[in-house]
Amino acid sequence: MVGKRCTRCVLPEFEPDIRVDAEGVCSVCRDQDARAALDRDAGPLESDFVRLLEKYRGKGKYDCLVMCSGGKDSTASLYFMKRRYRMNPLAFTFDLGFETEEALANVSRATEALDVDLITHKSRSMLGLFRRILETDKRVVICHLCSISYMRLTFETASRYGIRLVIAGWTKGQTARMDDATPGRYSSNAPEYVSMARATREFVATLRKDPEYGDVPATMEEVVKRSRRSRCIVQSPHWYLPEATESHVEMLTRELGWQAPKRSYPAGSTNCSLNFLSSALSLKHYGFTHYHVEMSKLIRLGLMSRDEALRRLEPDFGDVDLVDLAAQCGCSAPAEILAS
Ligand SMILES: [Zn+2]
Repeated sequence: MVGKRCTRCVLPEFEPDIRVDAEGVCSVCRDQDARAALDRDAGPLESDFVRLLEKYRGKGKYDCLVMCSGGKDSTASLYFMKRRYRMNPLAFTFDLGFETEEALANVSRATEALDVDLITHKSRSMLGLFRRILETDKRVVICHLCSISYMRLTFETASRYGIRLVIAGWTKGQTARMDDATPGRYSSNAPEYVSMARATREFVATLRKDPEYGDVPATMEEVVKRSRRSRCIVQSPHWYLPEATESHVEMLTRELGWQAPKRSYPAGSTNCSLNFLSSALSLKHYGFTHYHVEMSKLIRLGLMSRDEALRRLEPDFGDVDLVDLAAQCGCSAPAEILAS
């Protein structure tokens, strides 16, 4: 299904958004070359992050809200906020009913070891939306729609606790910097995301008169805009630290008893089992997932090798039953939808 793939990163050709030229290099890598030639900024330093944290320290019961899914990146964020930066965080987990036991156990062990308060928001309210996506075979990426709603819920929770700093586990491959220092930096207009973002927007537009889902936000920009009213920002320590997040695994295992999930997509990363279904459909509709976009950025930054990315992105779902996952969303006709 995938035709040409960039020989530098792992993005496939996806007309008209991503083109691979005669030398085998994609348009996103070419754009990056052009920008790098102009950009003399070495990127943010950890000292910038520390300075930013001081603005939020000691303002209330908690200094920050940490989005913690139990994956390595968000668990590392929680660890750093507490131990490295001596902040007083509140941990926040969102569970649609698909979080793996391993992920939830990681959250529980980490918050206990670090003596951090934890809020777990359990809700199955989005399953009806996922069912609609599946039954109508829309090209909406489940993870994309979910991440937008998760972000809104996170801002609402932070606001309820009077917290203005949200900390995520996003890597440099997910540099959607939504801070006040770079207003408007966050954008779903990047060529890698433009088609996925359009599909989500068009789907959400069909929900506007629906009493149950009428207020679902259509874009991350919309959520960020709403959050500005409560002057809440999102940051990730991984944007400021020089090393790849992979290098924190040993420390997390030793200090917090963190365990990698036995099976995940991409390998060694994720925590929500619905992610398998979302990734399978994203591969079917686009030939790539948001993980291909993230890892391609990490490759360009020299933080991951292309071989490592290809190995981890190999769509080997083993005994994961995609039809059963669809059925758990209430979708009764998934077999043909899942067929590529
Ligand atoms: Zn490329």
